[in-house]
Amino acid sequence: LGFTEVLLSEIDGPLSNDARENLEVVRGSGQQLHSLIDDILDLSALESGELRLNRREVDVLSIAEEVVREAAITTQSKPLEVELCGESAVAWADPTRLRQIVGNVVGNAIKFTLEGRVQVRVEQRGRFAILIVSDTGPGIATEVQTAIFEEYRQAGDDASRRVGTGLGLAITRRLVKMHGGFIELSSDLGKGSTFTI
Ligand code: ADP
Repeated sequence: LGFTEVLLSEIDGPLSNDARENLEVVRGSGQQLHSLIDDILDLSALESGELRLNRREVDVLSIAEEVVREAAITTQSKPLEVELCGESAVAWADPTRLRQIVGNVVGNAIKFTLEGRVQVRVEQRGRFAILIVSDTGPGIATEVQTAIFEEYRQAGDDASRRVGTGLGLAITRRLVKMHGGFIELSSDLGKGSTFTI
């Protein structure tokens, strides 16, 4: 992946259009494999009990801000608005893992929503920090709403299955549970989905 970036930056000389296109395919496939390997390693660490949390006081809003800022780059090709609202909310959490949790749910909302809006809201409710991610995407059928939190389970059509592995939500759910939290989904097919953590 590193050398692909070097070649694409044309430091070593100009690229033809074909060469650029091919390198972009190499980069895309490489990134996909990279995230697959990361997911499998996380899952194996979670299953063997080797994954440890490094907890401290974390502001969920500032983590959500980072995630939304980075995610905005990937929405540029779609008529999609990503909006962050709410208030500071302190959680006793592992910042890296919290970022992964927020990144997965926000990433899914952006990935599956072709147009409209993704809203990320952070609230403090008593002892809990709450993150609500809602989208105007395809929604998730009632009969698969439990299954998508299991390993390798995906909903939707073949095209949407190709863009992932079905591991993200399984890992997210386990990480949320390790933090003593919970994740809920409410969705109407054709209207959108809301994930509350
Ligand atoms: P992946 O995104 O790699 O397929 P996930 O475990 O993150 O795996 O998600 C499992 C499935 O849940 C997805 O394949 C998709 O069918 C469904 N899904 C998750 N988030 C959304 C969403 N915001 N809108 C519609 N479908 C979703």
